[in-house]
Amino acid sequence: MEYRNVGRSGLPVSVAGLGCNNFGMRIDKEQTAAVVHRALELGVTLFDTADIYGGTRSEEFLGAALGDRRKNVVVATKFVGPVGEGPLNRGASRRHVFDAVENSLRRLGTDWIDLYQIHFPDVTTPIEETLRALDDLVKQGKVRYIGCSNFAAWQVVEAQWTARTEHFVPLISAQSEYNLLNRRIERELVPACQEYELGILPYFPLASGFLSGKYRPGEKPPEGTRLAAWGPRGEEVLSERNFAILGALEQFAEARGKTVLDVAIGWLASHPYVPSVIAGATKPEQVEENVKAAEWRLTPEEVSEIDGITSRRD
Ligand code: NAP
Repeated sequence: MEYRNVGRSGLPVSVAGLGCNNFGMRIDKEQTAAVVHRALELGVTLFDTADIYGGTRSEEFLGAALGDRRKNVVVATKFVGPVGEGPLNRGASRRHVFDAVENSLRRLGTDWIDLYQIHFPDVTTPIEETLRALDDLVKQGKVRYIGCSNFAAWQVVEAQWTARTEHFVPLISAQSEYNLLNRRIERELVPACQEYELGILPYFPLASGFLSGKYRPGEKPPEGTRLAAWGPRGEEVLSERNFAILGALEQFAEARGKTVLDVAIGWLASHPYVPSVIAGATKPEQVEENVKAAEWRLTPEEVSEIDGITSRRD
């Protein structure tokens, strides 16, 4: 397993991370433990969850599965999404950040969060207020590093300048949707993050499993899969455009004795600005395949060939 520092920080994470949004939503406590334990055995050290995942059960199940091994890993979680009724139970205000962190620490069964991420921009709260609260949490030892998610490029720049001028800890990571079917962040967010030294943590790296190749054109999604469970939302992913790209990526993969899953994860891992690929999993075998896929580094020629396949249809 390769380990890379997140952005400009000294925080090393495994290039194959684990997304934890299935925990408490698609899989129960026991199945979560099986997935997490396999990941630990394979050298995965980055676990990405959020207070809202699985109706707050993801953090609980993750904490329980990690147990004593928590000290050997990097736990990343998030706040902002609604965790209860009313305006005080959501957002990025100082009031909610201080509540949210205590609740996440309790659910995770830990004394500290390694990477605490602003899940979504909260346009009703000044970024200075949120960053000051997060800086206080770092000083209190409850949080080690901070990051953002779903930020536009200008919001990253605004946050980093606020941190710089106010002497707050800076953001070290930006989480955003990024995969071979959706490369929109390459226009603005990626250059901004490179300039301001944030690592990019791509979410939906497999387009919710579509890029594993297990969905076939003209066929119903296999039972028990995420896109079957998602109904109409899943059907949006199963579009003609996406199957056309998938077909071309499969040819690219086959020519190299690889799978399309290897391409999806290996391509992301081949970008130096991506410290970790946090694919989600519902079974230990998926973790094994995803960790293996994260070993592949594409050559610059292969990356250009991929550009021809994916940008063409963007
Ligand atoms: P993803 O990684 O694109 O897809 C994960 C799903 O694909 C799995 O749940 C599994 O679904 C299927 N899969 C995974 N490995 C597979 C394999 N080897 N073979 C076949 N199928 C496989 O999507 P994601 O988990 O939603 O995204 C990754 C992480 O990003 C999340 O877990 C979460 O931590 C984070 N995230 C963040 C945000 C945000 O707003 N910041 C939003 C979304 C996600 P099935 O087995 O059910 O088919």
